[in-house]
Amino acid sequence: MTSKKPAKKAEASAAKRKVAPPVLIRGMRDILNPDWAYRDAIYDVARGIAQDYEYERIETPVVEETSLFVRAVGKATDLVEKEMYSFETAGGEKVTLRPEGTAPVGRAYIQHGMLNRPQPVRLWYWSQMYRHDRPQSGRYRQFTQFGCESVGDKSPIVDAQQAFLAWKVLESVGVPAIVHINSIGTPESRANYKNALVAYFRTKKHKLSEEDKKRLLKNPLRLLDSKDPAMDELKQEAPQIVDWLDEESKGHFMQVLEYLDEMGVPYQLDPYLVRGLDYYTKTVFEIFAVSEDPDVSKLALGGGGRYDGLLETIGGNPTPACGFSLGIDRVVNRMKDMNPEFGSKSEPRDVFVAQLGDQGRKKAFVIFEELRAAGIRAACSLSKDAIKSQMELANKRGAKWAIIVGQKEVLDGTAIIRDMDAGTQETVDSKKIVQEIQKKLKA
Ligand code: AMP
Repeated sequence: MTSKKPAKKAEASAAKRKVAPPVLIRGMRDILNPDWAYRDAIYDVARGIAQDYEYERIETPVVEETSLFVRAVGKATDLVEKEMYSFETAGGEKVTLRPEGTAPVGRAYIQHGMLNRPQPVRLWYWSQMYRHDRPQSGRYRQFTQFGCESVGDKSPIVDAQQAFLAWKVLESVGVPAIVHINSIGTPESRANYKNALVAYFRTKKHKLSEEDKKRLLKNPLRLLDSKDPAMDELKQEAPQIVDWLDEESKGHFMQVLEYLDEMGVPYQLDPYLVRGLDYYTKTVFEIFAVSEDPDVSKLALGGGGRYDGLLETIGGNPTPACGFSLGIDRVVNRMKDMNPEFGSKSEPRDVFVAQLGDQGRKKAFVIFEELRAAGIRAACSLSKDAIKSQMELANKRGAKWAIIVGQKEVLDGTAIIRDMDAGTQETVDSKKIVQEIQKKLKA
């Protein structure tokens, strides 16, 4: 029999060895201050606007069946081919971390029989998305989208409203933006256009990159938003989708543009905008920051469009629908660039609760909570001992009054209220502190 002693020794020395510091998974990040000031501001604005326009909140699960995205978004898209976080659960289910919000909303609409409710059903979400994309500036593997979806209405005013809402949220948080818009028609008119596009690019095949040659075979529309600089020139001569639109799609698009004019939404027609996902029909749009800096103005802050075929594709009835999403992380970055001060200001406090000694500290803990519960903005530093450093902190936090509780005050059932500007102080009954401060705040 071997002795257990050496094993125990080895365990103990391993425990003593320093463990390597934890690492953050590539493409992931912690969201810290000052980002929260910007995120909260966008959240308040977005939620307010969604509610005013009578959208209801929805939160779909972070995992869905992989087949939902494959069917809805399309097999030959970058998102499905390269970017999904897919895995098999212990139970053998093939699941994917939500890469976008529209397919899950469509799934929920079917699941909950929303077809039987008055149409359209309007839903909004603020959710984490996951895409295994190449991490770079403004491109994260976990990011937040705010989105709206209007399901069950085919009229062009809905398309215009989606572009309007995306723009309005950005405008309301001080980010000037412009909508790039196009129509990709019905699947039938698009099929004809695709043939024309393929015929054109076949004649230019020798000039295409390897990546674009693959696109020509698999998803020729994506050639139009190829990042290859040589493509800029080739695109100029390429057939344009507007010339291939069916009459209905053309009429629909004209009406969308008229509504945008009416609503004062700045937009520009973009014949090359096709969007990466298969489910779009008719109107597609993306929204960009207005900026002199090309690195800023080329990064989309949001996108959306009409997806009349999606619900049927995933097993529902044919249902027209339209929506958009904004990339909140990119909006935060833009706001930070434009207004760096905003996130660093800490909210001033009216009162600072200072304490001396163990009893004083206990009492200060209680007083702070009484003030907070009464809606008074208070600060304290219960771990500091010296009154001098606590008074410095009170000044820093902009407090007009300090409440001081020491050993003597605790015994007497009192507290001192010090006017920080005048330097005067008075002793009050500790039960009346909230009342006294409220009186002073009103004065
Ligand atoms: P999409 O529907 O893919 O166009 O996404 C809508 C918006 O979400 C984009 O315009 C971006 O602002 C944002 N977004 C998409 N992918 C990412 C990502 N990997 N990281 C940060 N934001 C993203």
